[in-house]
Amino acid sequence: MELENHLYDALSGAHPLDSAHPFAIADDGCETTYAQLFSGAAQISDALRGLGVQPGQRIAVLVPKSVASLQVYLGAIRAGGVLVPLNPGYTSDEVKYFLEDASPELLVCDPERLDELESVAHSAGVRSVATLERDGSGTLFGEAVAASPIARPVSRLPGDLAAILYTSGTTGRPKGAMLPHSALATNAAALKRMWRFRESDILIHALPTHHTHGLFVATNVALMAGCTLRFFDRFDAEAVLGAFSNATAMMGVPTFYSRLMQLPELNAEAAARMRLFVSGSAPLLEETHREWKRRTGHEILERYGMTETNMITSNPYDGPRKPGTVGIPLPETKVRIRASESGAEPAAGSIGMLEMKGPGLFSGYWRMPDKTQAEFTPDGYFITGDFARRDRDGFIAIAGRAKDLVISGGLNIYPKEVEEVIDQVPGVSESALFGVPHADFGEGLVAAVIGDGPEADEQAIKAFLGDKLARYKHPKAYVFLKELPRNALGKVQKHVLREEYRSLLMRG
Ligand code: AMP
Repeated sequence: MELENHLYDALSGAHPLDSAHPFAIADDGCETTYAQLFSGAAQISDALRGLGVQPGQRIAVLVPKSVASLQVYLGAIRAGGVLVPLNPGYTSDEVKYFLEDASPELLVCDPERLDELESVAHSAGVRSVATLERDGSGTLFGEAVAASPIARPVSRLPGDLAAILYTSGTTGRPKGAMLPHSALATNAAALKRMWRFRESDILIHALPTHHTHGLFVATNVALMAGCTLRFFDRFDAEAVLGAFSNATAMMGVPTFYSRLMQLPELNAEAAARMRLFVSGSAPLLEETHREWKRRTGHEILERYGMTETNMITSNPYDGPRKPGTVGIPLPETKVRIRASESGAEPAAGSIGMLEMKGPGLFSGYWRMPDKTQAEFTPDGYFITGDFARRDRDGFIAIAGRAKDLVISGGLNIYPKEVEEVIDQVPGVSESALFGVPHADFGEGLVAAVIGDGPEADEQAIKAFLGDKLARYKHPKAYVFLKELPRNALGKVQKHVLREEYRSLLMRG
């Protein structure tokens, strides 16, 4: 019987194993072919087996982004292991938590952090630590040379785990989302088809690879299509714009787009060769969508998903891409929006909780059965924690995270609704609204505002809000900032704002 490794077969099937087709082109022009990518991955899988990693065991990886780190990803899958990618920016205290929780067999880290992390790993019960440099050197490849080769990928079925990704939860302990082979393979196949990726594409990849967007959306789609990545270690607006003339597509977070628009050289001519711009991981302002179209002639394709679910919705490739919406559900994916009181789907345009079911769904939180159960409805829908509304054409707009909901004087305020109005004030470039304790109202709404002109002061904003929004939705205080706190993916960190201004409305 032919053995299968469900995900590995799907990711490695686009080209023959000796293909000279380029997989990645780095900043310095250095090229990695598909043949080199997969022979490196096979070596890594040999090394993993040599280090005693058995199928189903976890491999924690904490290294800066590099093509070699993608070979570790593929090597781990080939060896039947479960990849646990960690943000290389984590401190050793943070790493300790993840290692204790995931109990990996092996930690792969940057040689520069070996001294600091080796003792953390050992005290967390991790048996081996190996190193990997950006250029692929380090003890892991050293092991690979010494190990005896495994002739073929280890058999893995669709339901077997391929990875555990910790969600960037802002409250409570981070939870490890268990992702089976089938969820990753079906999602990438659907996105490849919907977004028309093919071998001739050159995809700009400037996203981190420890997160679902850079690893599973961008990398997996490219591998399945057999196309080429224009590979950046990190996002640099000028360098990325320079790559437009030699690429066909980009997947990015909204901040990529707003930073690129600060460059005067961004225009239709500069983007003439590109066929697709995708945005996700955080809300793309309608204004950014429209302005990008005005400057480049391209409509950004916005999609929505999360670590636990893979991608849930996408705007269409053909047909209208509606600014301010994340499109319609992916094939075979069911989305429902439920009003909190009745549980029924609210009328078109009203806000409710987005719940989903589909082939991209994870198989639960690692070693947290109670938390897993709490996030599912009795009929098997995953409760995303995102508020959303659906318009008459079936397009979905995300109205913010449930945990960011502000309840002031007993009334619900969806910060996104207020942000959208404040962002229209002349001189305001963006805003983030959040709740802090308030002596009278329980919680009070605070607006953090980024202005790009002097006209955006408190008086002007108050006057603008005037009769546009009910009184109870008006912020009780304003703070003017130079920039909003964001994480590596450009998500606004409202918990940082809440913490910083927690006593703002309690004084006097
Ligand atoms: P993560 O698991 O880190 O990918 O975060 C998932 C969360 O990011 C979702 O639950 C949403 O709150 C947010 N998100 C992702 N894509 C979008 C989008 N296009 N618009 C608004 N929020 C988004």
